[in-house]
Order: sequence, then C-alpha cells, then structure tokens
Amino acid sequence: PLSEPEMAAIAQRHLTKGLARMSDHVVEKAQGVWIHTVDGKTLLDFTSGIGATSTGHCHPSIVSAVTAQSNSIAHAQMGIVLHKPLVDTVRKLLAIMPDPSLDTFFFRTTGSEAIEEAVKVARISTGRQNIIAFQGGFHGRTIGTLSLTTSKNVYRANFGPLMPGVVMAPHPYRSFCRPGACPESPLKSGDSVSTCSPDTCTACAEPALEQFELLLKTVTSPSEVAAVIIEPVLGEGGYVPASNAFLRGLREITKRHGILLVADEVQCGMGRTGTTFAFEHAGIVPDIVVFAKGVASGYPLSGIVSTKAVLDACAPGSMGGTYIGNPVAMAAAAATLEVFQTEKVFDNAVARGEQIVKLLNAELPRIVEGKDIKVDVRGRGLMIGVEFYGEGVEKMKKEGKSLSAEVQKAALKKDLLILTTSVYESIRIVPALTISEAESADGIGRFLQSIEEVLA
Ligand code: PMP
Repeated sequence: PLSEPEMAAIAQRHLTKGLARMSDHVVEKAQGVWIHTVDGKTLLDFTSGIGATSTGHCHPSIVSAVTAQSNSIAHAQMGIVLHKPLVDTVRKLLAIMPDPSLDTFFFRTTGSEAIEEAVKVARISTGRQNIIAFQGGFHGRTIGTLSLTTSKNVYRANFGPLMPGVVMAPHPYRSFCRPGACPESPLKSGDSVSTCSPDTCTACAEPALEQFELLLKTVTSPSEVAAVIIEPVLGEGGYVPASNAFLRGLREITKRHGILLVADEVQCGMGRTGTTFAFEHAGIVPDIVVFAKGVASGYPLSGIVSTKAVLDACAPGSMGGTYIGNPVAMAAAAATLEVFQTEKVFDNAVARGEQIVKLLNAELPRIVEGKDIKVDVRGRGLMIGVEFYGEGVEKMKKEGKSLSAEVQKAALKKDLLILTTSVYESIRIVPALTISEAESADGIGRFLQSIEEVLA
C-alpha cells in the first residue's frame, strides 16, 4: 500500500491547484468527530466537511440505512420510478418544516444546483428576471450561482462573464455594523471581546433596509425583480447572522413588491443553529428555501422547498437531472432526519454552542491582552464565527501574515481541523451537531492554545 506522503505526492501532482487544500492527511476511517489517518494520527474534526456531516462521521444509523439501500437499488432516476427513501425523506422533511406553506419539494445533489433551481423557479413563477443578493454572500461556484457570490474575489476573478440580471445589496452587518462598532453594544474601553446579538440588535437593520429600498428606486425596479436571496447566517462570508430586525424588514419589503424571498440555508439550515432553518429565529417565512449539506450527513443531496403554486409554475419536463433524489443519498437523509429527532440533535447544537461561546468569552480576553487585538465572537448554535481585528492584526498583515491562517496551521499541528473563512481574519467553528460536551471542550482548548502560541 502507498504511504501517506506517496499519496499526497500524487494529489500534489495530479489534482488542480485551483483546489486549495489545507492538509495532506489521508483518511483511513472516521467516527463521530474523530478522523483516523493512514499514518495513525487521530484528528479532531471541527469542520464536519464544511457543515455536512451533521450527525458526525459514520453514524451507525446512517451507515446501516445506506448499506441496506446500496444492496437494494443504488440508482433509480426520480423521473422514471419512485422509491421508498424518497417518500420517507419527503414525509420526514414535512414534519420539520416551520410553516405548512413549505410543502412542495425538488431535489438535486449539490447546494449550487439547488440554488440554480431556486433562481429558475423564481423567474418562471414571477415572470421577472432580476435577482438581488447580498455582499459577502456565498451561493455556489457554477456560473449562475457564482454570479450571486461575493464572499471572496478569488471565486469570481476572471471566470466571467457571469449571469446578467444580478444586483448586489449591502449586507446589514458587514456594511453597517462592523465588529466592535455596533452602536447598540459598543465595546467598553478595556474590553477585547465583542458580541452582538442578532435577536435584539436593530442598529444595522434600518440603514441596510433603507439602502435596499433605494436600490429598488434607483437600480432595479421591483417589477423586474424575481427574487432576493439571502443566507440568514453568512457562511463563507464569515459566520455572520443577519439580525431578526433586518430579516423581518426584508420580508415586509419583498412581500409588498411581490418579490420572492429565497433563504439559502445550505450551510445554516438543518439544525445548525438549533432550529430546522436559521430564518426561524426571526419568525419569518421565506417563499423558497434551499437546503443541502447537513440534511444527508455528508451524502450528496440538496433540495428546494416552496409552495405548490410556486414550484408548479415549472412546466413538466423543465426540471430534472440524472442523479436527482439518488436512493442512497435519500436513505442517508431519511436516517439523518430520524436521528435528528431520536437524539434531540438540535437541542445539542444549542447547548454545545452556548458552551463553546462561554469558553471562548472566558479565555479570549486574557489571550489577546496587550496584543492590540480584539475579537468578535458571534453566531447561532454550532455556527460560531471568531473574527480577529485591530492594530495587532493589521501589523501581522503588513508582515505578510494572516492571524487566522496561522491559527489554523497551529491547530493542525495539534491535530485539530478548523476552517478559516471570508476575506476577514475569521475562523469558523462548525463541528458535527452531535458533538459531546467533552469533545467541544477538547477542541476549544486546542483552538485557544493555538491562538496563544501564534501570539506568543
Ligand atoms: N450556499 C451556501 C450558503 C453554501 O455554504 C454553499 C457551500 N459552501 C453553497 C451554497 C454551495 O453548495 P455546494 O458546494 O454543495 O455546491
């Protein structure tokens, strides 16, 4: 058998450099939040494959459902025949939908494809063309979804021309409520850790809604806008929740103008923030919801859900795809949705999220003391962003160093996998929703030690 360095060399030579890889580790097997490598290392996974392995790696219920399904039928194109895992998944999804209007589904394999479907459905059901998205958002890497993505220039640069008819609106937090600058929860002198609650903050909502309405008066008339798409919690854009006040305002404006509100819940949905969807915290109901990742514990499955009227606006045959509703992925989804209920997974996401934020807030002030660095800790449930800012961070940048990237490297040396995100100096904490209290403390301990080492 090949050694880990030999396999890494093959990847290095024969995989495109367009894929940024954070390690050369080769996985042998994985269980829960633990990944075992071929050279005998055990890594603590705080990435969950970018928020996909919601029930942890190889949850026994998912493994047995997928194994059984592989033994019965692996590919049954949804337009040709129906299959039981498809019907099971639809019934289980219906049971966790926050509103009865969300009752009609279409499935794809990746988040990007499902976003593409949402754009198509919004256009055909409204007879309008334009789509408004928010700066800092990530909606995918296909040409259509890339046109809506502005979390990092590298994703878009020189891949154009992109899809026309896209208008960018300023994001409430990124444009009006920067870390530490929130007028409603200003950092007191001497404080180094800021937290802004999306449940109560109203400071960024008003100017952002004003700008949004201005766009409708100056850039694109409401009569040509099919949909507004928003991540209720920015994912690749740095784990930033939009405030409840903003989401409610956006819902009101879109309703008034007959514009469809699309929630991209690919990263923040399926229990990640403690509720089926993150928009539920604001008490709103979007017209179209897109989900993926966590719904099938890492098996490729995505979907959109909307009202019957909106989804039925598509002519028969206008939607399809070879692998849509793949039975194995659907079996994984049905088992995942079952585990969500039987193991009270969403409650665990809330409890572990609170635990992690508490641990961070207790230790970070001491760690950054005297370093001219401030930290913004934010998020919901197990979708927690940690953003470093201030003079100390800028000084490192001038020396050609990124604090978040250095912390990620230091964590890797401690066998902790964590993700950086966005163009800001931010780290995202996104472990499996089933992570235990001890595992959470272990990972955060390694993370804090990594920051300490980098700043020493
Ligand atoms: N939307 C959001 C919010 C995402 O986080 C992602 C993936 N990171 C996508 C869409 C695209 O999903 P996929 O990579 O499965 O195409």
